[in-house]
Amino acid sequence: MAITTLQQLEKYLSLTEDELSWEGGPTSVPLCITEHYMALIDPKDPSDPLRRQVVPTCHENTQAKSESPDPLMEVSHSRGERLVHRYKNRVAFLATDICPMYCRHCFRRRFTGNMVGPASEKDICDACSYLKDNPQIKEMLLTGGDPLTLSDVQLDHMIGSFRKARPDLIIRICTRYPVSQPKRITKALVDMFKSHSSAPFYLMTQFNHPRELTKESIKAVALFVDAGIPAMNQSVLLRGVNDSADVLEELCNSLLFNRIKPYYLFQGDMVVGTEYFRVPIRRGLEIEHELRLRLSGLAMPNYVADLPDGGGKIPLCGNYIVQEPDKEKGSWLFRTPEGGTRSVSDPV
Ligand SMILES: *Cc1c(COP(=O)(O)O)cnc(C)c1O
Ligand code: SF4
Repeated sequence: MAITTLQQLEKYLSLTEDELSWEGGPTSVPLCITEHYMALIDPKDPSDPLRRQVVPTCHENTQAKSESPDPLMEVSHSRGERLVHRYKNRVAFLATDICPMYCRHCFRRRFTGNMVGPASEKDICDACSYLKDNPQIKEMLLTGGDPLTLSDVQLDHMIGSFRKARPDLIIRICTRYPVSQPKRITKALVDMFKSHSSAPFYLMTQFNHPRELTKESIKAVALFVDAGIPAMNQSVLLRGVNDSADVLEELCNSLLFNRIKPYYLFQGDMVVGTEYFRVPIRRGLEIEHELRLRLSGLAMPNYVADLPDGGGKIPLCGNYIVQEPDKEKGSWLFRTPEGGTRSVSDPV
């Protein structure tokens, strides 16, 4: 049984004052921690990086300056309740608002955990017509909430509808189940996806800390990868969780070793109630630089920010261009990752 109240939580952890004074409300998401994840938390460490991700605190009750419920302006980029179309060639479909466990740093908290439930038949049909009318859309993110809270039968129907409308659409399955409840992922679930293979699926996971990569998680992801569904990881850079080059180096190497490609490292969005998770971008850039020196190209995630007011994602990294070529001398001056410089001449 999942843990959903502070009283239940007190059986496992001795709660701090900050944790006890959490109030919930509109700037927050529900309290829900799976047994699997609870067992990974070190009860002796009040600042355990896993505890921080799932145990609420009073810091969620505060709204910092320039925070908003929807900084990415997903609502104004939505077609109906469930389809977010912010980039020309790809859309996100919010399959449900429910998750098996809620992350305190959730950036879609305007929507997540309101207990509305799975998309209706009408939501699915509307999305299908939109996809048919917009052939420039090449990819769909099946997200939420966590789409795998739907039953295999519900998912089969949903995917079947999308495949019927657009057999050529690449579908990303965005889920935290490998972290929160890996036993949800069964051969039957993966076979169901495979039965809709007119176009590829990609599995998008969210591992934020190396201790989340348990034997069970690794097995769950391997079911997808063995079936020919590649796995990519999107971590969020979180203060007190993974804001260190050592932790991220270990995480990225373990992910790569388990055939999960580190894809993105997200700067925390300006979402209400998440200020105490945000890492200063200057610090993020230092970590990014350190990781670039330590990790292989395959193990290196792209550090990105999703800009406010729906500005979209941009890469965050050091500037390796020292000087652009002038008209006479056609050569560039670059900085090397180790701190030297090199000039490269370019065709004029
Ligand atoms: C992030 C995001 C995508 C996917 O962007 P990629 O850079 O291709 O991973 C698509 N739609 C929305 C609304 C997003 O926020
Ligand atoms: S799994 Fe995703 S949608 Fe659900 S609470 Fe965590 S970040 Fe939010």
